[in-house]
Amino acid sequence: MNPWAAGALLAAGAYWGPPYLLWQWWGLSVVQRGLGSARPELGLTFDDGPDPETTPRVLDALAEAGMRATFFVLGERAEAHPELIARLQDEGHELALHGWRHRHGWVRAPAEAYADVLRGARILEKLAGTPPRFFRPPHGAYTWAQQAAARRLGLTPVHWTVEAHDWHPAYGPEAVVRRVVEGTLPGGGRIEGAMPGDIVVMHDAGPGGRTAAEALPELLAELKARGFHPKPVGALRGLRRGEWRDLPKRAWVATVDRFFDRLYHVEELNYGAHSVFRVAKGPFPGPAVEVASGGRVEPGAPAAELHLHSERMARAGEAGSLTAFRFFKRSMPDLARALRERPHLADVEVFWGVSLFQEILEPVGFQLVELPPARRRFLGTYMHFLHRLYGGTPLKRIWPKLVLIDRATLLERYG
Ligand SMILES: [Zn+2]
Repeated sequence: MNPWAAGALLAAGAYWGPPYLLWQWWGLSVVQRGLGSARPELGLTFDDGPDPETTPRVLDALAEAGMRATFFVLGERAEAHPELIARLQDEGHELALHGWRHRHGWVRAPAEAYADVLRGARILEKLAGTPPRFFRPPHGAYTWAQQAAARRLGLTPVHWTVEAHDWHPAYGPEAVVRRVVEGTLPGGGRIEGAMPGDIVVMHDAGPGGRTAAEALPELLAELKARGFHPKPVGALRGLRRGEWRDLPKRAWVATVDRFFDRLYHVEELNYGAHSVFRVAKGPFPGPAVEVASGGRVEPGAPAAELHLHSERMARAGEAGSLTAFRFFKRSMPDLARALRERPHLADVEVFWGVSLFQEILEPVGFQLVELPPARRRFLGTYMHFLHRLYGGTPLKRIWPKLVLIDRATLLERYG
């Protein structure tokens, strides 16, 4: 290869590569979510406005629901529609910076990308009276130049964890609601639905603005019904930037966790913000157990193994063990509901699992059974490792136990 071409390629790679990997992909030093908290919060954000046609409709929907959000606005559009910036402020929303003009950082000269952030911030400060606190570049794509400008202005970069896809041609309002709330995709696939502490990205301009405005009444009502408290990013508790120590967990979730989910056909019981259970149907492995309701469950009986949603549990745990207990307790009716609503689970006689959280599970109705020593040592080592990987504080050295709740007890307490 021509040495000049090779040099140019290397320089381009150094300019685009690390920012993409470190900031956009891994989220290092970028705010992606708040901590889980006892009151499940959700960051609501809208990009690309203000737009005279769609921004007012988005604002109407938010006002109707009594909710506030963060708007990542473009300086160019803000200058053209100062009345919309005034309305955003009057209605208590948070103003943040998306840039001056909507162009991907990769296709701009570094000096231009740098100046764009400064210019956008300047006009926002002029219109709003205070400088913006948060910055999200167009397409969530960073370059060294934009990051340097953000640092100079003291702006905190904010990404998202849930993409509503309101801009996407395959998504109507209903598809947006299902994607954000349950993680179901129009093609039939599944991703993770909204979890406590997540930040959702939508749009209040362009085609996304129209879809978002139409989706919002149902979306906000459903989030509320599930126990979420949507709010602006700046009002989320425990806002924190991505760190190196988050990366092993993310790699684990993306690979090992997904692999086991497929292997064991684990299904979500995502009925609300607090839901932490997932289940996999299969015969009860034994031993035979006298259950709380008086009957007996034999090995081979129709059963469902309980798995925890590790990420949700980790977020609840960050907020303290009382919160973790509350999440468990509120998830118990999910099991009864699954028995009623999912035909393939209708004959399940017992929900069982192996858990370290015995002290939490016993008060909500689970029976505890000792495991054989070899099995509990093996499982215990593995489970303590996972607990630490997900960011849990070290537990005292307890062995896991078999925990179970039979159908009659479950329905009597939570049906
Ligand atoms: Zn944008």
